[in-house]
Amino acid sequence: MRLRAVKGAREMIAANDYVIKEETNMKGRWSELFGNDNPIHLEIGMGKGKFLMTLAEMNPDINYIGIEKFSSVLVRALEKRAEYEGDNVYFLRMDAENLAEVFAPGEVDRIYLNFSDPWPKERHAKRRLTSREFFKRYDQVLKADGKVIFKTDNRPLFDFSLEEVPEAGWKLENYTFDLHNSEYVEGNVMTEYETKFVAEGKPINRLVAFR
Ligand code: SAM
Repeated sequence: MRLRAVKGAREMIAANDYVIKEETNMKGRWSELFGNDNPIHLEIGMGKGKFLMTLAEMNPDINYIGIEKFSSVLVRALEKRAEYEGDNVYFLRMDAENLAEVFAPGEVDRIYLNFSDPWPKERHAKRRLTSREFFKRYDQVLKADGKVIFKTDNRPLFDFSLEEVPEAGWKLENYTFDLHNSEYVEGNVMTEYETKFVAEGKPINRLVAFR
């Protein structure tokens, strides 16, 4: 994602009640924050938050947490959050590497990865959100029947991910190299990046992984 510094982003985030600070240890207590036992779905690398906010409005009985590394991007999602009256969305500004420090085993029901950074250099493969190293982290926090759902326009990253799933000891429930011309498109919610790529005529790859 092209990053433009947003003046005061850090301060806005610090002052926003919907951003849970990493140091506020909510591990094992997320249901208390939401005030119910509804399932918890994460989007990692949420960007400006269109996908997450759309899902939250559609599914008030699901709790959503958007995870984003950069303050300057997260503030855009906070603008959308300010216009939303529901109480089923919170955010974390953090690197997903530290997921297991923030969520207890089995606390999360689903993880969405949308248009994740490709990290094309081989020596950076461990940073890809669909690397076996990251699946280990997902394994630590996801419920036994939890799923990871990944979309990307990037075919090399998708091919890598299809190989990593079994290497990590996970299984593929389904996958497609062209989501928008497949049976899986029904109910699909587009992300900011997806809207742009679809308009350019690029096929979108999608996989669903489980253990
Ligand atoms: N998901 C959005 C979409 O589809 O429109 C944004 C996609 S953008 C290419 C990837 C986002 O993931 C960026 O905002 C980036 O800062 C974030 N990101 C990448 N690696 C991350 C990590 N390890 N932890 C948290 N966020 C990460």
